[in-house]
Amino acid sequence: MKNMKNMKNMKNMKNMKNMKNMKNMINMSTLFPRLEFLFQALYKSQNKCPHCKSTQLKVIAKKFYLVKIKRCKECRLCFTSPIYKTYFSNNFYDAFYQAEGSTTSMPDNDTLKRMKEKSFKGYDKYFGDRIRAIKSMCTSKDILELGSSWGYFLYQAKKQGFDTIGVEIANTRRNFGIKNLNVTIVDSFDKLNNKKFDVIYTAHVLEHFTDLSEIFSQLNKHSKIGTKLIIEVPNFDFEQFGAIALSNIGAIHPIGFDSEFFGRNLPKYGFEKINFFDSWSDVPDSPKEKSSIRSSVILIAECTHEN
Ligand SMILES: [Zn+2]
Repeated sequence: MKNMKNMKNMKNMKNMKNMKNMKNMINMSTLFPRLEFLFQALYKSQNKCPHCKSTQLKVIAKKFYLVKIKRCKECRLCFTSPIYKTYFSNNFYDAFYQAEGSTTSMPDNDTLKRMKEKSFKGYDKYFGDRIRAIKSMCTSKDILELGSSWGYFLYQAKKQGFDTIGVEIANTRRNFGIKNLNVTIVDSFDKLNNKKFDVIYTAHVLEHFTDLSEIFSQLNKHSKIGTKLIIEVPNFDFEQFGAIALSNIGAIHPIGFDSEFFGRNLPKYGFEKINFFDSWSDVPDSPKEKSSIRSSVILIAECTHEN
């Protein structure tokens, strides 16, 4: 009994140590880019919308005194001015992204084994709620995921009977998923060979881009009439949340979306019938006018024409 308690204590201590290490890593890996971002704010500014190129902009807030948050009057995208661009190596940038936690940091063998044994239940990469929601709307089989990271969603969807393919540009994470989770992940849209899917899912990926027109066009290209497009992004609804929303925009996420951005822009790329949700358990029966939780805009749209 005592031994078990000791073991538990040791495990807790180990967890605490891991958490502390993680925290140190986050601090070290983000401090320099944040300073570089602030320095850039002294001499650079973003004077046209990175998505639609309009110069009709409004400053809606400031962050750290120097960084302006602008909103495009045409397409409603919000973005930082300047948009941070590191002048250091790609490796350094990868390290910066590591700061985002388990999305980018990959589990060790033992942890991965436990995750698989529990079908990811109890871990932050448990996607059972999403997969249940997808099943409730769509009985078809083919899912494309944009931004698969190390494949945890694809793995869980595959286990539930879906045919899955992911696109992921980061080599290390893509290869980890292929090797350890036995899922199919390609490095670009080109490798999909014009295949069309029943469901396209993308979670916390779009906010890393600046110009989404190419991405939205690709999503349409791989859709057919009736394809469900499911998007999750941080909810940068400044009107709804005020200054507290500023934590969702900055060096790592140069752009911010609110529900209205998607309502205005997705129909141009063939996606209509847009429903917003506040949680996955609300899908499909309780859609909202807009997402009202700060962590995510959750939306489901339908492809109504192929461009
Ligand atoms: Zn715009």
